[in-house]
Amino acid sequence: MAESTIRKIAVMTSGGDAPGMNAAIRSVVRTAITSKIEVVGVYQGYAGLLAGKTTPLQMSSVANIIQRGGTILKSGRCPEFHKSEARAIAGQNLRQLGVEALVAIGGDGTFHGAHLLSQEQGFPVIGVPGTIDNDIFGTEETIGFDTALNTALEAIDRIRDTAASHDRLFIVEVMGRDSGFIAIDVGVAGGAEEVFIPETLANVDQAIQAIQRGVQRGKTSSILVAAEGQKVGRSYDLAEQIRRKAGYEAKVCVLGHIQRGGPPTARDRILASRLGFAAVRALQQGLTNVMVGMQAGQVVPVLFKDCVNKKRRVPQELIDLAHLLSH
Ligand code: ADP
Repeated sequence: MAESTIRKIAVMTSGGDAPGMNAAIRSVVRTAITSKIEVVGVYQGYAGLLAGKTTPLQMSSVANIIQRGGTILKSGRCPEFHKSEARAIAGQNLRQLGVEALVAIGGDGTFHGAHLLSQEQGFPVIGVPGTIDNDIFGTEETIGFDTALNTALEAIDRIRDTAASHDRLFIVEVMGRDSGFIAIDVGVAGGAEEVFIPETLANVDQAIQAIQRGVQRGKTSSILVAAEGQKVGRSYDLAEQIRRKAGYEAKVCVLGHIQRGGPPTARDRILASRLGFAAVRALQQGLTNVMVGMQAGQVVPVLFKDCVNKKRRVPQELIDLAHLLSH
């Protein structure tokens, strides 16, 4: 592959923010500048790209951000980017700035847009997976997932104290509209009696059986974990179903956006640093239209066309394990 003598790149964060995005920006900026590549930061994802909201980034611009959640470049959603005319403007704006390639840090939607921008405009783009949902096909881990998981786990540990002290049943609702990674992992790590994930139908009877098995063993409190699915607050419906079917009164705790913020874990900072570095190196090697992802502990390039429109599924092994350990 031909080495590229790229001189100026842009970096942006897009879609849902995820802890560790700042560490990724820092790594992109410092890797690039060390290789004598200028960096422009784009604010608010594709919306900022269309509106020309950019800023030059220096080594010092990214000082003291590795430990901060959120993103200094802000993030956003931009419905206009679904139109090819908008993507043509984005390409034009980037070229006008003298930018030769774009590093897009975001999730599946962001990569969709990046893929189209790259294809239609012939503009080099590299994706860095950043989403707490961990649902991007082609990478075993995404930036922000580990932090969100640990935040949810800490919450469950705290709720368990109250559940045990008051002999209560709790349903803890975690994030994940289409993806059950946070729910299943936190369910296993937090010893939940049952986990409801969007990938499979909620099995209320199974949950009731798990609670009853616990009661027979003398257990007086239980925790169920539910991913929010398509409706935030669906745990209230689950609680009502459990009350009607078995007479158990469940308290509901919806964790919500606290899972998105906070200082990234060491694991997320390291992942973000590795992927940010790899994104710049990939551009220097002339790669484009790819995401840098993790496979078997190694950073690998994965073509956008092989990761967008595909769904990474929660492994059946973890679903079975969560069920088995609740016995
Ligand atoms: P995430 O990147 O976290 O999955 P979104 O799904 O909200 O977040 O996508 C972020 C942005 O990417 C959207 O606001 C839109 O600007 C762009 N995008 C998403 N899907 C597409 C698509 N099919 N075509 C073009 N742009 C898209």
